[in-house]
Parts: sequence; C-alpha cells; structure tokens
Amino acid sequence: MSRDALRIRDLVVEPGARRRGVLRVGETGAGPVEMPVVVIHGSRPGPTLCLTGGVHATEYPGQTAVREMARQLDPATLAGAVIAVPVVNTPMFAARTAFVSPVDGLNLNRVAPGRPDGTVTELIVHALFTEILSLATHHIDCHGGDLTEILWPYAAYRMTGKPEQDEIGEAMARCYSPRIVALFREGTPLVPTGTVTSEAARRGVVSILGECGSAGGLDPADVATHVHGITNVMRFLGMLAGSPVVPASQLVGTGQFVVQARRGGLLRLSVGIGETVAEGQPVGEIWDLFGDVVETLRAPGRGLVRIIWTHKAVNSGDLVLKCWVTEPAPPFPPTDRFVR
Ligand SMILES: [Zn+2]
Repeated sequence: MSRDALRIRDLVVEPGARRRGVLRVGETGAGPVEMPVVVIHGSRPGPTLCLTGGVHATEYPGQTAVREMARQLDPATLAGAVIAVPVVNTPMFAARTAFVSPVDGLNLNRVAPGRPDGTVTELIVHALFTEILSLATHHIDCHGGDLTEILWPYAAYRMTGKPEQDEIGEAMARCYSPRIVALFREGTPLVPTGTVTSEAARRGVVSILGECGSAGGLDPADVATHVHGITNVMRFLGMLAGSPVVPASQLVGTGQFVVQARRGGLLRLSVGIGETVAEGQPVGEIWDLFGDVVETLRAPGRGLVRIIWTHKAVNSGDLVLKCWVTEPAPPFPPTDRFVR
C-alpha cells in the first residue's frame, strides 16, 4: 500500500509510471540468461500483483496474455502495482523444449523456490522469488497445455491452512477460471511439489495457477481467456474498476485420476477433451503393429477429461488421459464480503 517507488535492482518505478528492464540471473556458455520484467505502478494505492508467463516457455497463450496486460494497463487508472514477467524461463523459450530446460534438464515448476548456488533453472526461480515475488501480495502464474498436451482450462489454488489467505486464493481462482476450479490440499493425489504457486503461497503471497491453451498453440481465444481471467481477478482485488463476473456453472475439481496404457502400440482414443466419462466406460483401444486390439482402456471412475496427450504411439505405463473428479461449485459469495 506504500506510495514509495517500487525497486527491482536498478529498475525504479514511481507511482503513476511504467518501466521495463531485464534481470540477468545466470549465464550459459553462450552468454547471459535474462528475465524480462515490466512494472506498472498505479497512481492509487492497492495490492501488488505479480503476473508470470513462460515458466513453461512453450505454453504460449498465458505468456501472451501477460505481455498484453503489461502493455495495456494504464498506471493512471490502476490501483496498486503489477509486476509482469512475460517469459520466466527464457532458455526454454529459445530452445522450444517442453516441460524442462535445455540447459540443465530441470522443470522450473518443480524446483521452486530455487537456490542461489544452483544451476540455471534454479537461479531463474531463485531470482523470481527473492527479487520479484518478495514484493508481491498476489500472484497469477499463467500456464497451458505444453507441446504434447491438450488441456481443458482451469484455475487452481494450493490451500495453506491460513483461512484469510485461502479465502482470497479460492476467490481469485474462481474469478480466473471459465469452468473448473481446483483447490489442492496437502496430500491431494497427483499434485506436484516445488511449484511456483505452491511455494509462493507458503510464503504468504496469494498465488493461483491459470491454465488455458493446448499443444504449443497460440489460439487468440485462449489468450482472451487468460486476459479475461487476469482482468477479472484485478477487478476482484479492486485494482481495476468494475465487478468481477464469475460463471454460474463452475465445477470444483475435488480429485483426479489417470488412465495409463499397460500395453504398447497405437492409441485410438474414443473420448475428447472436456468430456465426462463414466466409471468402467471404454475410453480407447491400443492396437499392436499388426492392427490387433491388445488392450481396451477403461475409466477407473467418473470424471471430466482434463488432459489428453498428443502422442499416438504409446508404451507400457504411458499416461493417456488425466481426469477431474468434480462437484458443482457453491454460489460465489458477494464480493463485499471479502477483506482484501
Ligand atoms: Zn505449465
């Protein structure tokens, strides 16, 4: 809420101003590793919201939305400040590698909060936490399906057990997502550790994950979903004028399950992204190289198909579907109930 300038190294941004720069965070053999940063410091007090894209740098719609927001936001009408990092993982962006860095083979979204004496990926995420997220009260990490993933949009928040923080985090996720909201708790199956949002939340930053986009695409509709989500959250936080609009038909993802191939061969799925499958329902077949059906895949429970992998050839143990177990979300509370 301070009216002091925001400072990130030599980037000094007074209220009412927009500035951009790059942070050098490490080096490869070919030169510096840098992270682009844009700060929009509003002329009125309010929260400090960090927007990150490109943690997985081949997920393009989310990072494009961060870039668009950083260019469009007007410091004169903004309450609070936005610190935008359109592409966190620039080595991955340059090399077009899915999930992991080409430099050290690490998944940045599994090694948060990084290490000051680590490898390049750990240095990037360390700089993100110590120099950027340390200034933020709220955070949105924009992702989507990576190069090999077809994804049904959702937003997620990792519950911390701190009621005031969790209430705002849940509301932000509901403001972001067009349909599915996931609230992860300690011990929720299939939820990774060392993610940027979970570690930020542990440090008191109200941090959500926004996921939209598929398979290395850059569909304008997916960018618009992210932009709408960010805008809606900023309205909820009082940073932009207007009231958030939360869809009436939201679902809460209360659990998840996967369908795996036991046999190798050619996968022929019979369900699509966003479809609801029943327990025991056939969801696909695996054909061997002669065309014989060697396995019929069945859903182990009732769920909504949330990720399909694009590969058609499968090996024993490969994931072929990931599904949400869902229930209807309760009505969204009146926004004046929240203390932000
Ligand atoms: Zn991702």
